[in-house]
This record gives sequence, C-alpha cells and structure tokens, in this order.
Amino acid sequence: MTTPHILPNAMLGILGGGQLGRMFTMAARAMGYRVTVLDPDPDSPAGGLADVHICSKYDDPGALQMLVDTCAAVTTEFENVPAESMRFLQARMRVTPSAECVAIAQDRIKEKRYISGAGLGVAPFLVIEKEADLAQTMTEHLPGILKVARMGYDGKGQIRVKTPEEVRAAWAQMGSKPCVLEKMLNLKTEISVIVTRTSSAEITTFPVAENQHEAGILDISIVPARVPAPIADQARGMALKLAQAMDYVGVLAVECFVLDDDTLLINEIAPRPHNSGHYTIDACLTSQFEQQVRTMCALPPGDTALLKPVAMVNLLGDIWRDDEPAWDKLLSLPNVKLHLYGKREARIGRKMGHFDVLADDVDAALAQAIELKQMLS
Ligand code: ADP
Ligand code: MG
Repeated sequence: MTTPHILPNAMLGILGGGQLGRMFTMAARAMGYRVTVLDPDPDSPAGGLADVHICSKYDDPGALQMLVDTCAAVTTEFENVPAESMRFLQARMRVTPSAECVAIAQDRIKEKRYISGAGLGVAPFLVIEKEADLAQTMTEHLPGILKVARMGYDGKGQIRVKTPEEVRAAWAQMGSKPCVLEKMLNLKTEISVIVTRTSSAEITTFPVAENQHEAGILDISIVPARVPAPIADQARGMALKLAQAMDYVGVLAVECFVLDDDTLLINEIAPRPHNSGHYTIDACLTSQFEQQVRTMCALPPGDTALLKPVAMVNLLGDIWRDDEPAWDKLLSLPNVKLHLYGKREARIGRKMGHFDVLADDVDAALAQAIELKQMLS
C-alpha cells in the first residue's frame, strides 16, 4: 500500500530544536509546510523559527499528545529521544524514522550487533555491561577506546585505554554504565554516506564526504571525498544495504573508517541528517534536510547531484572569545556560504555554525577553507 503524500500547509513535528532541527525547519518552511518543534530549551535554535514551539520535556505526555493532535507527521533531530516517547507517537501517527530504528542507533551495543548481523564490518569490540564482563580477555582489543553505549556524542563519553587495569578504571569513571571497548584502529581516513529511503523503498545516497576530526569533533568535511572510486562506491553500497536491512524510512547517516589496507568498516550511524551532510545545503540539488521533509511527507527523494566541489568547516564556540568572529571577511567572499545557528552562548567545543567553500576543484575548496579557518581562529 502506498502512503499518501503529505502536502504543503500541513504541520510537521520535530523532536529537538538544535541546529539540525533549525535547518529542518528552514527547509520545511521554504517548501510551504508549517513546523512544530518540541524542545525543553526556551532559546533553542529552531524554536524561534518554527510556527509553534512546545517548550516541554521529551517525555511530557501533554506535549506528545499535542504533536499527535496537531501534526501530520513527526521526525527527530537526535537519537537520544526516549524510546517510550517514540513508541507513544508511533502508535498514533506517522513517525519517521521508526522507533525501532532510533532504538538501534541510540545504543552502541545494539548498533554494532545490528550492523555486524547485517553482514557489514565494524571495529572489533567487546561489550562491558557489568562488573563480570571486565574479566574477559581484552588483549586483542587493546589499545582501545572505551565508549559509553548511550548518550555519547562529539567524542564525549569516550576514554582511551591501554591495559585491562585502565579499562577497569575508565569503566568506573563512566559510572559503570554499559560500554563497548573498541580496538583502536589505524585510520587512513574517515568518510560518511547519507542515505535517504522512502516509505515505498526508493533509495538514494548523497556524494561521499571525507571527514577530518579534531579532538573527536568533526572539523572539516570535503566532498567529493578524496578516496578511490571503488571505495566510495563500496561505502555507498554498505549504507544502502544497511538502510534496506533496517527497513529504514528517512535520512540515515553512516560514518565509515577506511583502514590502511582500504578495508571499510562502519563506525556508527545516526538516524537523522548529519553534520557531515551540511554541505548539501549549498552544494547539492537537494539538501539532507529537504530529504528529511520529503521522506516524512512520503514524497520521492530529491536529486542528490553535487553541483560543485565543497569543503565545509564547523565553527565551534572556541573562536568566539570576547567578540563575534570576523564575519565580514567570510561574507565578502562570493563562493563562501555562512550558516550560524543562533545560539546565545558560545562554549568551547559547542557547534555554533559552519561555512561552505565552493570551488571548481576539491583541493582548491579545501585550501581556501583551511585558510579561512586559520583566519578565524
Ligand atoms: P561520536 O559519537 O562522538 O561521534 P565516534 O565513535 O564516531 O563518536 O568517535 C569519534 C571519533 O573518534 C571518530 O570519528 C574517530 O576519529 C575517532 N575514533 C572512534 N573510534 C575509533 C577507533 N576504534 N579507532 C580509531 N579512531 C576512532
Ligand atoms: Mg561519530
């Protein structure tokens, strides 16, 4: 059975009003939809741009019922929504992605088991859920990274460990919560693929991004990724396979490691648009946020063609110091696109905005991006 289209003027709901919710809201409103944001923060980046901001907790029954009563469909900007809230909504209205898919992506243990169960490679890992799990032989997974199973992001909730004693200490430091111990790998590079899959199983991927991190936080994404075509094709193939296996509907981001011998592994997935896909707003025919709108509205995906090579640079709170950074420099360049998220308070490591540099070739885009980044820092 085909799902009926949800057409402009309809009210779309989103759980979370951070920068991803904000860019979703802008895409939806540009297409003539109305948007309701649920976010407990009265100053959330998306709340002020939405038609309606429900300023409540994600498990507030009244707030969830309001989404049911007023929205044609609901999506999410983050994976850490309470599973119970997703299920409540899903029992009463169209929710994309599904509660089941979000549940996989919000727990590293489920995520890694699911991905390897689908026949796709992940970094070697051990599950440490309880004291007794620390008695396992860990030598093959050390040196490694202990990652908390839930709620980690931007390198938070991760501790690098070299010996079983360090694993014990790190696990205690994490509050003895369920964790995975992942082997530390030699990465040649990191890439990501964003896949869009609709209710009628139409599926498309965006061009592969090459991602450079600093201190566990995405710093620069470069598109097209500077990897051999077969590697990019394989990454796209893995993302498609995973989205099919999950019967996923919506936008799914797949982060991959490329090892020294060109082996591709899936690092983690996100059930939503992704920081490494922000370049699509300026550089692709359709943005990842428009795809999110399209999939929730049961419309076919837009064309993902790359219009121009691009380098995206994240703007972290670190560069705010006493003054606003020198935006006039960026804004005077015709091939640079600045995006700011309207966050009041700049903190170290906080994502405040990003900019895209578009150029005729990817090396030129990257060189200018690095130059501008240095100018701002
Ligand atoms: P987050 O949820 O914070 O993005 P990730 O698991 O993606 O957590 O880790 C953040 C970054 O840390 C990765 O993009 C990668 O650069 C590095 N990293 C994570 N796991 C490994 C690993 N097993 N080996 C080497 N580097 C890793
Ligand atoms: Mg990551």
